[in-house]
Amino acid sequence: MKQFTKVITLLLALAMVFGLVACAAPAPAPAPAPEPPAAEPAPAAGKFTPGSYTATGKGMGGDIEVTVTFSADAITDIVIGAHNETPGIFDLPFERIPQVIIENQTLNVDAVSGSTYSSNGLLEAVTAAVVLAGGNPAEMASAASTGAQAADVDQTADVIVIGAGGAGLAAAVSAHENGASVIVVEKMPKVGGNTIISGAAFNTSDAERQKLMEKSAGPEATVMALINAESKSDEHKALQQKLQEEYDAYKKSGENVLFDTPTLHALQTYAGGDYVGELPLITKLTTNSLDALHWVEGHGMEFTDVVFTVLGGLWPRAHKPVKPLGTGYIETLSAYCQNKSIPVMLETEATSIIMKDGRAVGVEAVGASGNKVTLHANKSVILATGGFGKNVEMRQKYNKTWATLDASILSTNHPGATGDGIIMAQAIGADVTGMEHIQLLPMGDPVTGSLAGNIEQGVEDRFFVNKNGDRFVAEDARRDVMTNALYKQPDAYMWVIVDKHSYPSGDVKNNFNETIDQLVSEGRAFQADTIAELAAQIGVPAENLQKAVDSFNAGVDKKTDEFGRTLFTNKIDTAPYYAGARVPTVHHTMGGLKVTVNNEVLDTNGKVIAGLFAAGEVTGGTHGTNRLGGNALADIMVNGRIAGINAVK
Ligand code: ADP
Repeated sequence: MKQFTKVITLLLALAMVFGLVACAAPAPAPAPAPEPPAAEPAPAAGKFTPGSYTATGKGMGGDIEVTVTFSADAITDIVIGAHNETPGIFDLPFERIPQVIIENQTLNVDAVSGSTYSSNGLLEAVTAAVVLAGGNPAEMASAASTGAQAADVDQTADVIVIGAGGAGLAAAVSAHENGASVIVVEKMPKVGGNTIISGAAFNTSDAERQKLMEKSAGPEATVMALINAESKSDEHKALQQKLQEEYDAYKKSGENVLFDTPTLHALQTYAGGDYVGELPLITKLTTNSLDALHWVEGHGMEFTDVVFTVLGGLWPRAHKPVKPLGTGYIETLSAYCQNKSIPVMLETEATSIIMKDGRAVGVEAVGASGNKVTLHANKSVILATGGFGKNVEMRQKYNKTWATLDASILSTNHPGATGDGIIMAQAIGADVTGMEHIQLLPMGDPVTGSLAGNIEQGVEDRFFVNKNGDRFVAEDARRDVMTNALYKQPDAYMWVIVDKHSYPSGDVKNNFNETIDQLVSEGRAFQADTIAELAAQIGVPAENLQKAVDSFNAGVDKKTDEFGRTLFTNKIDTAPYYAGARVPTVHHTMGGLKVTVNNEVLDTNGKVIAGLFAAGEVTGGTHGTNRLGGNALADIMVNGRIAGINAVK
């Protein structure tokens, strides 16, 4: 159970607090209860007053309600009721924690790593129910839970994939489709990595969907600036010429639809990363992205027809999954693994790559109970371990851009994003590139750093103000530009402002599956009928906020403004108005392993390490100094898929 975090102290403290809360305001009793709670005190012989009790605990998304059924001596059932936890995060603790409690009659349960808030909220609720039933939570918290010692494992497959996030699962599916037997190892107790908790927007030019959008959505000035920029190389120049030809043909056609091509996407990616990314990797991404989108769609993944501009995405080419966050990708690819019996070994942490005669031939790992796991690869090993956004030591070691990336700077990442793949590959001579390029978003929750609670729906219909109620940046700019601008504001703290155009009704959800009504009721967003009232609620001068609204609305008319912003759709002019607070947060590590266009890992002499491939955030070279919003999911699917194909050859 090494991946779990003990929460007993907190639990005991909360037993006191929540016991009182639950007693003072008991949730409605569920019906039918097996035996009604006795009005009398518990019989001396029993530990509990038999019956069913409903109580709540605080999770990530507010209250989690549970109904716990007690016999005189035991907890016999736990049913989870209403909650607003994040899909992909709550699933595992909600399945596992009740089982452990009932099997062991203990509250000495570990929080599921990566789902700490949901785990703790659930434990608090059960603890409160124990108090309501007359039980002694402290006594139950000292009861041990048993964990079996697993045997050592020694297995062989054609391809071993390390990491079951988006890139790893795409690679596993792709390798299997191409005839390989595959084993996936994942160190966390669940699949998904950062992918499953991401906004999940997928950038690709896509004539079919983009023809639904008007021409005016994409400004000509952006295209012309890319065409006319100073050429960095012949390769760059050739791309610029290609874009000129594509744009001329588009204008000649007279079509009133949005312009987009893989070339425009490539040049925006290149320029958006300060021309540091490698053009062959970039054009590989943009010319294969639509195919990769269709590939994952072919496996059952669903996207809406709406194409939008995601934060820092610079162009309306982001595809929005139907399912919340990244759950659609992970469920789709996991279902394939399940149907084809591809083993995905959870709580199995890869510790080293086995080398023989200069070739990667397997993986050493440690299983959940500390058992040794040795996996042999007939053909190849694929590294898909993600980035290092949660590894403070690595952040500090490589950071050259930000004043500090110490632990005081929050992160959107899951706890497993610790750069293991980079460290393991370096240990066998692999090279890295661009490690100093670490992306911060201006969009972190002020308490957790997560993207949860973000009220923006897309770039066009929202703007930002600082604590004085003043706008301070073009809100359609690059992520690094916006975050740098935010750092210059008081307390590096800002408010996102939207109106009814983003939330036509209170039950409309943000990208994190949270309704605006829910966020307002939890005090994570503010709602008002006038700008002055909104200003009062968030504590900024009303005249400044009004000035900010006026400046934004004038920009909508002119399609530009004093900050040089060009992406606009609707004015902020229709109540209700909403505000949500945001701070800088570490999001993505652009640097990583140096790879070829075939996803082979290169050593420090520039030579391919035989048998070793990499895909996803563990790699460097594509995004330069700054990754465009919406390019990560495209990167993962394109490169996971191609790594899978090449790993089998
Ligand atoms: P990407 O977007 O590149 O797919 P993710 O963060 O979504 O990256 O997924 C990476 C996955 O790799 C995560 O689920 C993470 O827990 C897993 N992982 C990281 N290090 C190891 C390791 N040493 N052994 C096994 N799995 C790992």
